Amino acid sequence: MIPSIYNDKRFGINQADISKNALSIISRLHKNGFDAFIVGGGIRDLIKGLGPKDFDIVTNCEPEKIRGLFKNSRIIGRRFKLVHIAFPNEIVETTTFRSGINTDSESIEINDQGRIISDNIYGTQEEDAYRRDLTINSIYYNPITKEIIDYTDGVKDLKERRIRFIGDAEKRIIEDPVRILRAIRFAAKLNFTIDKAIADAIDNHKHQLLQVPQARLYEEVIKLFMSGHALNSYILLQKHGIFDLIFPHVKNSADNFDDFYKKAFAQTDDRVKIGKKLNIGFLYATLLWPAIFIKSNIGQKINFKKFYQIIASSIRKQQTITSIPRRFTSFIKDTWMHQIRFDRIGKKSISFTQNIRFRAAYDFYLLRETLEPSLSQKIKWWTEFKAANYDKKVRLINSFKKYGKK
Ligand code: ATP
Ligand code: MG
Repeated sequence: MIPSIYNDKRFGINQADISKNALSIISRLHKNGFDAFIVGGGIRDLIKGLGPKDFDIVTNCEPEKIRGLFKNSRIIGRRFKLVHIAFPNEIVETTTFRSGINTDSESIEINDQGRIISDNIYGTQEEDAYRRDLTINSIYYNPITKEIIDYTDGVKDLKERRIRFIGDAEKRIIEDPVRILRAIRFAAKLNFTIDKAIADAIDNHKHQLLQVPQARLYEEVIKLFMSGHALNSYILLQKHGIFDLIFPHVKNSADNFDDFYKKAFAQTDDRVKIGKKLNIGFLYATLLWPAIFIKSNIGQKINFKKFYQIIASSIRKQQTITSIPRRFTSFIKDTWMHQIRFDRIGKKSISFTQNIRFRAAYDFYLLRETLEPSLSQKIKWWTEFKAANYDKKVRLINSFKKYGKK
């Protein structure tokens, strides 16, 4: 098929908005006789007038040759090799055109050195365009000729704000169910409409997400909730029945858990907007909290041991679906365990405020108010206590003991 070709002026693309490193890689490949393009999120977001997160490069140069051309590069991946070219401030991912044929098949022959012998994995630009997921993710930009190359009507869909798979939605989702989450993620990020064909295909095949390796689902969850469009992602995941599927233990666990999530994710997005860091542990603590809340009766009679058991089993259950790396589980557990300490105002409350995880626990405590409006008085107390000097802290504890207890 003949692609549509546009000049970059038409979209007001300014090369100053493109990573210098990416441009220099393309120019080097070009000087060595290869074609090279920016593809995927980089050019999609440029056309949309958004600041792209990164720039992926695709070329007809094969990985070993790319490796040879760039000293600062290394080949990663076994079955699907790609090259990471490292710069002081970024790593630019450079891949070779792939045909899409056989990419998921076990029949690819690999020799002793791990090199793919059968060459059908590499393809032409056209084949590469058709193996991508969404039309809007399959637009190529050649910064040397300043041409935008579009085989799949991606530019039109960007203009019409449509999320559409290349080819048959059902088939593309069966090939790789993670594409369901990708479709939702880009719809959430760009505020685009999900094509009816995709919505139907999601309905029919969403359960296949549960067959996806936990680590891959985890990566997608992070992208859905930590890229500044968590609230939108949450709404769409709910709409398509995916949220309950990947967080099944949370399902209907509290009446107003929907409000809890909406408030939490709106806050998450606000943090991204003002450039504050997000903590993956805090995200998971939030995602799983309604289930903990219901199971534990926190705020009423609860002991540390029982609470810990509920916490540990909730994390374990979630890990059967989306992995939660060990380095975050202690943060999640601490954030939750500390919640009990907000109920036990006394001498130890002073050292609690000095705990390295106090700040996160406190932020989490504030979040709980949506589920437990009765916390508001105590939240005021803790907010005052947190800011107070030592003497005032002692006074606050004493007066709490005298008058505070109901
Ligand atoms: P982001 O802004 O999140 O980086 P992106 O579109 O660049 O968005 P990546 O995950 O970086 O997304 O992938 C780069 C490109 O690779 C995509 O734009 C798409 O063309 C292709 N791609 C990625 N994942 C898949 C998939 N599961 N199936 C088909 N094509 C994919
Ligand atoms: Mg990308």
